[in-house]
Amino acid sequence: MTERYELPEELRLTRNLVSDFNKNEIIPLEQEIPHDSITIPENDFSRLSQKTKEMGLWCLAVPEKHGGAGLSLFANAVIAEEMVQHAAGLYCPAYGTMGDAPPEIIWAGDEYQIKKYGLPTVEHKLKGWFAITEPSGGSDPARAIQTHAKRDGDDWIINGSKLFISGSPWGNWGIVFARTDPESRRGITAFIVENDWPGLTVEPVPVMRAYYPGQLFFDDLRVPSENVLGEVDGGWDLLANKLLARARIPYSASNLGVAVAAHKMAVEYSKTRETFGAPLASRQAIQWMLVDSEIEIRACRWLVWEAAWQFDNGEDFRQAASVAKVHSAETLGNVVDRAIQVHGGMGVTEWLPLERWYREARIRRIGEGPTEVQKMVIAREILNPGGVHA
Ligand SMILES: Cc1cc2nc3c(=O)[nH]c(=O)nc-3n(C[C@H](O)[C@H](O)[C@H](O)COP(=O)(O)OP(=O)(O)OC[C@H]3O[C@@H](n4cnc5c(N)ncnc54)[C@H](O)[C@@H]3O)c2cc1C
Repeated sequence: MTERYELPEELRLTRNLVSDFNKNEIIPLEQEIPHDSITIPENDFSRLSQKTKEMGLWCLAVPEKHGGAGLSLFANAVIAEEMVQHAAGLYCPAYGTMGDAPPEIIWAGDEYQIKKYGLPTVEHKLKGWFAITEPSGGSDPARAIQTHAKRDGDDWIINGSKLFISGSPWGNWGIVFARTDPESRRGITAFIVENDWPGLTVEPVPVMRAYYPGQLFFDDLRVPSENVLGEVDGGWDLLANKLLARARIPYSASNLGVAVAAHKMAVEYSKTRETFGAPLASRQAIQWMLVDSEIEIRACRWLVWEAAWQFDNGEDFRQAASVAKVHSAETLGNVVDRAIQVHGGMGVTEWLPLERWYREARIRRIGEGPTEVQKMVIAREILNPGGVHA
């Protein structure tokens, strides 16, 4: 007999804790604040983050030695699916009351950098951001990056601009990828910079989600050499070192989680709403919408889990991460769209989270590497399995 896969008990318990926390604390609080909120009142934040720390739910994805729970990527994916199941969950899971991890790449830094930027971010004293995309494009950053850094004694001087940088309007520090060797496509270096340094300005970029990103302008921004992250001209290697692809897995798990939440709402509503003398759920047209969502969600979960397993096992997970990213972003859009249809007019009101998810879901096909770029990764691997791809 083939063994049936079951989640380990400890993981199931943690997932249930997160689910109860959302149901008992976050969702009731959301009824009291504006529909598009991205924060909760400070006193609620302190109270709830104290609770999650006591429950061992603080910064689950951060390595233990840096103050987090150090869960595997698979465990993180399972928990992320649960954590995002509330109105703000896609971009502000639990409103940060379970901790906000710093950009993952900071852990590739030296002791000074980790102590100065990484650890205070885990402790919620600072907030970080991560800047690759520029006005010249985000799909192919190795070619598009024009922001450049030149040596000046022991320092570096950065000039240029970055666009669509999440978290930068509220951040204290961030990681900027700038060209340091103009002759080479890969001559890029990662620098840690601080928001309040002279020479850096951040402007909001209004988009269809309330958690808007920023545009950064570097005007002779002076950066000390101790803020070079990794090797000079080694920034691309840091990224290619699977960081970008890895991030697609928890991102996909979040897409899955919001799809699950929207689907649950559609199922419940269809059972109680009556038209023409019978519940919507009795109509085949409605059932088929629910069935399509159910099938897409189930497939999505396995794709996310497979990518996470491959990562945790040290396999080349990049194609699986791209497959999960494409499928989860499409699934999220489809499921939320159907859930709105089942709810009729109620679906597009600000009284329900569906319209917020609908707007935010659209961004998920673009952010973290757009669908077309993921398909390029998948195609390369199909056509040349095991080949080395940039
Ligand atoms: C809300 C939001 C938040 C973001 N946060 C961050 C962040 O924190 N940090 C960061 O660095 N970036 C961030 N981004 C940027 C995001 O990663 C880019 O938008 C994305 O990589 C696409 O780049 P682009 O917008 O310049 O589109 P382009 O690169 O100009 O591409 C335009 C379109 O063409 C498609 N395309 C490109 N090449 C091909 C091809 N060869 N074949 C077919 N189609 C192709 C793309 O898929 C896309 O749909 C964010 C974006 C948004 C919208």
